Amino acid sequence: MSYFFYLLQYQLLKHLQIEKNWVFTVILSCKEPKVIEIDSKELLNNLKELSDDSFEGRLFSSEAGKRARKNIVENFKNAGLQPINGSYEDEFSTTLREKQRQLFFPIKKKPLDDYSNVPDTTVVGGNAFGMLNGETSKDIVITAHFDHLGIRDGKIYNGADENASGTVALYTIAKYFRNKPTKHNLVFVAVDGEEVGSVGADYFLKNYTNKNNIVLNINLAMISHSDYDPELFVSGLYHYPELRDPLEDIHTDKILLLFGHDDPNNKEQADWTFSSDHRVFYRNKIPHLYFGVPDHKDYHRSTDTYATINEEFYIEAVKIIIQAIENLDQHFIDD
Ligand SMILES: [Zn+2]
Repeated sequence: MSYFFYLLQYQLLKHLQIEKNWVFTVILSCKEPKVIEIDSKELLNNLKELSDDSFEGRLFSSEAGKRARKNIVENFKNAGLQPINGSYEDEFSTTLREKQRQLFFPIKKKPLDDYSNVPDTTVVGGNAFGMLNGETSKDIVITAHFDHLGIRDGKIYNGADENASGTVALYTIAKYFRNKPTKHNLVFVAVDGEEVGSVGADYFLKNYTNKNNIVLNINLAMISHSDYDPELFVSGLYHYPELRDPLEDIHTDKILLLFGHDDPNNKEQADWTFSSDHRVFYRNKIPHLYFGVPDHKDYHRSTDTYATINEEFYIEAVKIIIQAIENLDQHFIDD
């Protein structure tokens, strides 16, 4: 099937399914997609590695989670990232209480409804980060959480799509940009503690010295799994319609970038504004764009493994995100 035919058919299908719901904006173009050269094999190998059983599901504050963070730091250095304030990582502690504590660090006798007798616990996690210097002091902060659900009932929750996919995409994006001049500093943050309530993103933003110069957060979470349609969404344009222009006309010859999942009044589509770490930036009035896929059959299950991701979809999704960053880097400075 030709690409153009495929697009027409795809759009027709979408219209039939959702009855003129224009929140799904299919980006159509007859133009050739921009060629983005990345090392796809390395990208997939990195995903395989971070979602391997040896990292035991990367539970926040676990020994395996810490090993994952060290591994990410090495990959950030290898990708050419510079340290931030002399460092590539920052540990922090957080106190989990009542239900949140019971969910992630259950005590033996499980209370049914009443969590008031669950003692607090204070645990330590940490973010990994690095940056590429731009031509101005303004920052685009690209985040992806690396923690996941650990081991539950003896099963490892590998979290290949959530969110080894977003995390290792950071290395590929960094390598793509490391020898290309950008207007903005590109700040890469592999964030811990998303699953317990975005505590890592919260800590990062509170302590980041260049916070006032952040013009945009780009958050990646779940970008490798597409069971049906090749749909990658970018969420956030409902809140930041001025960011639409640089995202128009982005596609590869395999997948489409759709806009949506950000309108609280849309009853047919989940609003993702608060679904992951970008919510911390949103609450701090910093514009965000979130790239991800809808929840799928393996979401938050032990079957979210490398075997169930879609390799081709993932490679194309990373290329689309790189195009978006290239366009957005130009956008703010032109304003
Ligand atoms: Zn999750």
